[in-house]
Amino acid sequence: MNALLITSAEENYLKAIFKIAEKDPGAVLTNALAAEMGTSAASATDMLKRLSDKKLVVYEKYRGVKLSEAGNRIATNLIRKHRLWEVFLVDKLGFAWDEVHDFAEQLEHIQGEQLTERLDDFIGNPRFDPHGDPIPDAQGKWLRRTQTRFLTLASGQRGIITGVDDHSPGFLQYLGELGLGLGAELELLERTAYDQSSKVRIGAHHAVLSEKVGQNLFVRIL
Ligand SMILES: [Zn+2]
Repeated sequence: MNALLITSAEENYLKAIFKIAEKDPGAVLTNALAAEMGTSAASATDMLKRLSDKKLVVYEKYRGVKLSEAGNRIATNLIRKHRLWEVFLVDKLGFAWDEVHDFAEQLEHIQGEQLTERLDDFIGNPRFDPHGDPIPDAQGKWLRRTQTRFLTLASGQRGIITGVDDHSPGFLQYLGELGLGLGAELELLERTAYDQSSKVRIGAHHAVLSEKVGQNLFVRIL
């Protein structure tokens, strides 16, 4: 699969296309891709042309691009490596869950299938990363878990935190302060119709979560 040389920048675009399509299935538009990459539409267009020349993306007439099979394989493998490194950094090096993303952004570009497989074995073949995101296996298969957004909880319902949609250190640290790590249990006491803020019970204490926090939390309803 690495018969042709692919740069880290190209890899990042493939991963961005994968992530946009994951949230909003269908062809990915140049503007959405430029926004995700924090670049201009012109640069995104140039990059797409390069990726298309390497047969990693396929143009859909008037509708943007899709990953080719080879492009999809590379993106999935990058996500696999990223998430395995995050587990390693938390479990083996003692970093907190809000400290590992930027390191993993670099580590994911290290090439070498053997390194990835040994890393996977070394950390016990985890199926989820420290943020609750699934880790695809070496064949690119995903184990999806059933979870819903916190905002779908009704008053009186309890849930376990299974994932986060915002991986920024600020958000993760804030959740940590609230005692809302992965696996934490909370109960929705009341949701305010006016602004969708949520009064919750976490263990012995109460907290109010803003709508923004609620939107970025995934739970498994108990
Ligand atoms: Zn990450």
